[in-house]
Amino acid sequence: MTSTVVHLPAPRVPRVRAATGRLQDNPVVGHKRVLLAAPRGYCAGVDRAVVAVEKALERYGAPVYVRKQIVHNIHVVTELEDKGAIFVEEVDEVPEGAHVVFSAHGVSPAVVDAASERGLHAIDATCPLVTKVHREAVRFARDDFEILLIGHDGHEEVEGTAGEAPDHVTVVNSPAEADTVQVKDPSKVVWLSQTTLSVDETMETVNRLRTRFPDLHNPPSDDICYATQNRQVAIKKVAANADLVIVVGSSNSSNSVRLVEVALEYGAKAAYRVDYAEEVKQEWLDGVATVGVTSGASVPEVLVREVLDALAGAGYQDVEEVKTAEEDLMFSLPKELRQDSSGQRDARALGGRASHGSA
Ligand code: SF4
Repeated sequence: MTSTVVHLPAPRVPRVRAATGRLQDNPVVGHKRVLLAAPRGYCAGVDRAVVAVEKALERYGAPVYVRKQIVHNIHVVTELEDKGAIFVEEVDEVPEGAHVVFSAHGVSPAVVDAASERGLHAIDATCPLVTKVHREAVRFARDDFEILLIGHDGHEEVEGTAGEAPDHVTVVNSPAEADTVQVKDPSKVVWLSQTTLSVDETMETVNRLRTRFPDLHNPPSDDICYATQNRQVAIKKVAANADLVIVVGSSNSSNSVRLVEVALEYGAKAAYRVDYAEEVKQEWLDGVATVGVTSGASVPEVLVREVLDALAGAGYQDVEEVKTAEEDLMFSLPKELRQDSSGQRDARALGGRASHGSA
């Protein structure tokens, strides 16, 4: 099994609109259909983060600065830019005294301190499930554990978590690295992980670590979040019956890239990731009767609908949803935004939009 290091930010490829009806309805053996995975798309943490930027723009007016992409989806970022958000790489690019939103992937304490020193008004849209991992890192470091953080070096979530206890954290990028990573005291080691990894690959890494360090401690609860796990379970079921799987998601979206890998491992004959429907290629559909479709946790449903419309134009009008879980989790908005300007509790203080993931 291989692991992909995610380099950020994703290239800002402008959307190229193609003529409708671009895909041809060529004959295939068997009945053309789509298996649509559910859950898919927006998770509670992404929804909260996007609503946080929208509310900050409503409350404070444009521009509102956002450190890094608020979520890893080019469409979401472009839409927020159109509304007046300015995305920066670091807080030193933000004018003193301005509002800055920290992305769903979290930040290290050094970033919080830098924003404070600059007199910025920070709004922390870190997903609560990422914050949970930060707290675990702080606690295990306080108890003098060495922390093996399974995740992708360079991903901002990993940078944020590692930054909570830099002297205690070693990043383990892949199962292969589990065979070589060095620790000072094998009796005092714990593993934690990035929230958006492949469940299977992470367990392989843990098993290989445990072979070398039998006293390896487990995190108190799953670090790979519910949304990542649910989307992987759903695509496993779809992939087993699909000739082709299309994952809607951006190239820097860890959980979207993992969905392509998982689909291939679980039986899809081919699997591709696209940002937009226009990227679906005619040759992918050659001889394909069943197309599986899913989307990463940072993907708005409208982009999936556009892929389904493109597929319908190519004869894949029969869409069957394959649902493996219900999701109804919602998170409160960041505390800075829970009250409106008159001090009343905001109507959307608890969560953002009405639905997540399923059709
Ligand atoms: S993918 Fe998981 S950890 Fe990331 S924002 Fe969504 S719920 Fe939170």
